[in-house]
Amino acid sequence: MIRKFLRRVFSRAPAATDSHEPAAIPLVRHGIHRESISPGARRTCETLQQAGYLAYVVGGAVRDLIAGITPKDYDIATNATPEEVRALFRRSRIIGRRFQIVHVMQGAETLEVSTFRAAHDADTQKDEHGRVLRDNVFGSQKDDAARRDFTINALYYDPTAETVLDYHHGVADLKQKTLRIIGEPRARYREDPVRMLRAIRLSAKLGLTIDPEARTPIRDMASLMENVPAARVFDEMLKLLFSGHAVECVKRLRDEGLHHGLLPLLDVILEQPMGEKFVMLALSSTDVRVRQGKSTSPGFLFSTLLWNEVLVNWETRKKRGEVQIPALFEAMDEVLDQQAEKLAITRRISGDIKDIWALQPRFEKRSGKPTLRLLEQPRFRAGYDFLLLRAESGEVAMELADWWTTFQDADAEARLAMLLPDKTKKRRRPSRAKTKEGNADTVEPAA
Ligand code: ATP
Ligand code: MG
Repeated sequence: MIRKFLRRVFSRAPAATDSHEPAAIPLVRHGIHRESISPGARRTCETLQQAGYLAYVVGGAVRDLIAGITPKDYDIATNATPEEVRALFRRSRIIGRRFQIVHVMQGAETLEVSTFRAAHDADTQKDEHGRVLRDNVFGSQKDDAARRDFTINALYYDPTAETVLDYHHGVADLKQKTLRIIGEPRARYREDPVRMLRAIRLSAKLGLTIDPEARTPIRDMASLMENVPAARVFDEMLKLLFSGHAVECVKRLRDEGLHHGLLPLLDVILEQPMGEKFVMLALSSTDVRVRQGKSTSPGFLFSTLLWNEVLVNWETRKKRGEVQIPALFEAMDEVLDQQAEKLAITRRISGDIKDIWALQPRFEKRSGKPTLRLLEQPRFRAGYDFLLLRAESGEVAMELADWWTTFQDADAEARLAMLLPDKTKKRRRPSRAKTKEGNADTVEPAA
């Protein structure tokens, strides 16, 4: 009686999403054996549980395992505070000032351990558009489930019991291939507009249909993205572009009217047929590499996304009578400067991008020592891959790309035989034109 009274006094008024009691889904339905999670995730949960805490693998990893995908990483949720977690693991550290989480190192793995967090309430700090600025209040496991974005992300796997606690019918939604938001979609997008991007990315990655209730408001609310800090949008866009499903994601972004203003470059590119073909080819080759587990580089992808801008800028400069190669370098800088405001492209990435672009005019020349020296360039491979995309999209002749394909695999003797006679040397020696043309040889990519 007293307990019941106390519970009534101390419990908050239940929100719509709080009304769910979790279903305990057995192994036969979810299919995740404790051996199928990473050893580090299992050990971390077991250590926390042995110390008397609740501990679960949560979020993306559970969702991916049920969908038959190997998780990228593992997140652990617990009722232990960050200090309590820290005390249990020798190789661990608390990170984040506002909302603390603990990184636990197990062998080569790093596990992210978070304490159950509450959904925000009326006192939560928001900006003038309703975007939540802080949500760092600890809460119950039920609260923690309710503040997550989609039903399929509110699943808690206990490796000891081999059960999944499912607060919002996420397992059923996953099996029915539906992406459903937890709570009222408009309110959830207003709190955090990035959830719209996540809806697109996760639905593309898992082949899900976005539930109409969650899908319809995206078009109306797309403009809220403008209000999200650039670094956050950039992080989410990187996840999207390197998800292995970038082509599908970009298509879905466009279908939902969400591609405007995300990356300034996408706006322009997707509206120009020539640019679009090139970008889609680049995205699809990135998708193939990601799915094959090969390395990918943001520098390469961004160099493709921005190339059309460079071409347009370069063309304008050439028409104004600027000298070919310096004009290219000016165009490169201008395009990167324009993007820097909105995109958090680091100095290293922009160096990589410029290297790839600067190599392009050098592929046009197929005679003399500079051509041989090009093969020794550290960025030759990236530049060549870029050239292939230009050829496939019809920007340069396929014959040029084919020549480089053969040339790089040929032995020294065959390479010499392939070099074309250096016409420019003989014909233009005394003229000024030669000097201009000759500049192409002296272009070195930025370090
Ligand atoms: P992946 O790791 O495959 O990119 P994920 O769903 O695990 O996908 P993370 O960014 O790792 O994405 O987030 C981990 C979990 O945190 C999610 O599964 C979800 O439960 C929760 N989450 C992440 N972002 C949000 C958000 N914007 N709003 C609410 N919950 C979120
Ligand atoms: Mg994750």
